[in-house]
Amino acid sequence: MLLHIGLDDTDSPEGGCTTYVAALLAERLLAMGAEFTDYPTLLRLNPNTPWKTRGNASVCLRFNLDESRQGDAKRAVIDLVDSYGEFLCENTNPGAVFHVGEVPREAKEFSDRTVKQIVRLEDAEAIIDGCGMGAVGWKNRRGIIGALAAVGGALEGDHTYELLTYRSPEYWGEARKMDEESVREMDRVLGGVTFNNVDERGRPLIAPHGPDPVLYGVRGESAEAVYTASTIVRPLEPVERWMIYRSNQGTDAHLGPPVSIGDLRPYNPAVVEATVAGTPRTITGGHVIFRVADPSGEVDCAAYEPTGSLREVARGLIPGDRVRVHSGVRELEGGLTLNIEKLEVLGLAEDVELRNPRCPACGGPTESMGAGQGLRCKRCGHRGPMERTLQTRPRAIKVGVHLPDRDAHRHLTKPLERYGREQTYRPSPMFSPWIGWGGGPVPRSPSSSVL
Ligand SMILES: [Zn+2]
Repeated sequence: MLLHIGLDDTDSPEGGCTTYVAALLAERLLAMGAEFTDYPTLLRLNPNTPWKTRGNASVCLRFNLDESRQGDAKRAVIDLVDSYGEFLCENTNPGAVFHVGEVPREAKEFSDRTVKQIVRLEDAEAIIDGCGMGAVGWKNRRGIIGALAAVGGALEGDHTYELLTYRSPEYWGEARKMDEESVREMDRVLGGVTFNNVDERGRPLIAPHGPDPVLYGVRGESAEAVYTASTIVRPLEPVERWMIYRSNQGTDAHLGPPVSIGDLRPYNPAVVEATVAGTPRTITGGHVIFRVADPSGEVDCAAYEPTGSLREVARGLIPGDRVRVHSGVRELEGGLTLNIEKLEVLGLAEDVELRNPRCPACGGPTESMGAGQGLRCKRCGHRGPMERTLQTRPRAIKVGVHLPDRDAHRHLTKPLERYGREQTYRPSPMFSPWIGWGGGPVPRSPSSSVL
């Protein structure tokens, strides 16, 4: 029988990782005879939710398993969450959802909402009951939301892949070591089919910096691409295990059609098409703020300091420019602010200024004598009929899509190189291998193996 197990919220800022629990679970399920029907799916949820622990990732494993082993599978989930969940963290509230059979439409719709909005635990529980699913929630049970979203996240539209490698537990919390040149080499060889490997200056972006068990992850357009990447990257510490996920990362899945400024809601991602209504200003900390308007209202947009070069684009805007702002809605004192993830310049206004003419008598500069008083030459004092002229200044920014520096991309943000590469999912035999153990400079015994 076809079983889906969704997992969410086992991690905390101090450690842990839901994908690591999923990788341990996959190993146990394979030992029970499970036959996977899809790569484990890694679903990034609404990045603006105030309850997220770190990356707001949930995971689903989908596999055929003999009915007699179903209870063992559920016991394995509970055992692993009990062992690896970061229960001391207030915001860590793990959840697991079990479903047998095809993914119901209600779960798919719920999943889409969970990526794009704030959803309620009651709504998740109603679907779980209505569809006859099983669920286990720890502490305040909020993780059930993400676990159901993972089950419903069939990723039938655009999707990407990520190969995640995990560190041996004795290395957790220590600085990660890898041959940085091998990451740049991988990017040169596979840059067309993998993304966000290095930043604008060539520094590797594939390794996280926190205490979680992930050593590095490579994102790309196919399982083959990310697997090949892992054969080029040279970590300088042992790899305990690795697994390939199918994911909504890098797809803009959280962004829906444009909404009116009057309909903005806190914590939701939002795309707003509007006109720049004020001159951008740079505030303390290097953040750039500008106001936009549409017929329903006005709102501030913020390009924060970490977005790097995106701030240059924001600073180059002038009133009258047409923009499409991809953002997360934040509620600050004084109202809502759009936290910019991506800035599309749709149309540039003409940057014109009234210039005083040169003096017709001596060619010197002229100045106004006051409102309605006409102009006077600053050099020779000449007065007389002189016309101001309109001068058009060249614009420093271009129409098009502008993204933050790569290290400030959200997990869900579609990078520029993925435009035009969007893909639809067609169930097909899984690329093999998709899970494995060992690797790195000190292969453990038994020596590196793949399944
Ligand atoms: Zn003059």
